[in-house]
Amino acid sequence: RAKEEGRGQFREYTTAMDEETRGRLQLERELRIAIQKQEFEVYYQLQVNVENNKPYGIEALVRWNHPKKGILSPHAFLPAAEETGLIVKIDDWVLRTACLQTKKWHDEGFGDLVISVNISKKQFDRADFVERVKQIIEETGINPHLLSLEITENMAITQIQEAVEKLIQLKKIGVQLSLDDFGTGYSSLSQLKNIPIDTLKIDKSFIQDTNSQNQENLALVKLIIAMAKSLNFSVICEGVETEEQLHLIQTEGCHHAQGYLFSKPLNYEKCGSIMQSMNENVKVV
Ligand code: C2E
Ligand code: MG
Ligand code: MG
Ligand code: MG
Repeated sequence: RAKEEGRGQFREYTTAMDEETRGRLQLERELRIAIQKQEFEVYYQLQVNVENNKPYGIEALVRWNHPKKGILSPHAFLPAAEETGLIVKIDDWVLRTACLQTKKWHDEGFGDLVISVNISKKQFDRADFVERVKQIIEETGINPHLLSLEITENMAITQIQEAVEKLIQLKKIGVQLSLDDFGTGYSSLSQLKNIPIDTLKIDKSFIQDTNSQNQENLALVKLIIAMAKSLNFSVICEGVETEEQLHLIQTEGCHHAQGYLFSKPLNYEKCGSIMQSMNENVKVV
């Protein structure tokens, strides 16, 4: 009997495993088809200059327009895309599309809009990564000074010699470099000094846990902004949702903000009309 029970448990266990594996294989199959059929779409989220409330830039955020499930967020498919290496093709497509569409915006009067694009570790680690970026810049005609590549702290500080070498080559092409989700990784101040980064994007968890009750997080946000500024980084606060949070980072001298307070990530047309209306609303003093 004990044996039978044991077998029963084993069967349940394998069934659960099978389901998980099946689900993952199904997702992988669908992802491959999605890449062939170009089912992805680039959404854009505004980054605002906190001094004058004008658009400073936009971040490209990938969405999967799934034939059955509708618009999917990255968390639903990026882990699988990373595991299978398919992320490299997706990132390539996102970078190219974001550059093409932003070039149109540049030509239509948003002349100094900075486009930020997320780069996965697999993409960054490719031997020909710098060459690919160069190629996409040439093909799309984007001004490299208005292109910012977002990497994470951990990408910059593992295999640091190789990574720094790559970052230096990217700087030579003229692109900007940002550290995404800053504060959640493992980089130290001394390491930060040695990598050629232009911008720190303070992770949204810091600003979102600030309120008048939470003095520690408040102090932390102030400290990170002050530190970043003293090291001459440009600073973007992610996840700004309330006027109170905006006021806080304005007071601390943060340069740019990104978050639902201004806009959620939107498709090309919608983001374009928001930027249009923001420019029209600028008061001439
Ligand atoms: P991220 O690069 O840190 O992007 C910011 C994320 O925070 C976005 O989530 C954005 O929608 C969300 N966000 C922005 N403002 C607010 C806010 O005020 N409140 C809250 N709660 N959330 C806010 P999203 O679009 O779901 O993307 C998640 C992550 O997926 C990104 O985090 C990035 O790491 C990754 N990702 C997105 N697109 C790409 C891509 O094309 N390639 C790669 N490799 N990764 C991507
Ligand atoms: Mg990002
Ligand atoms: Mg990120
Ligand atoms: Mg982030």
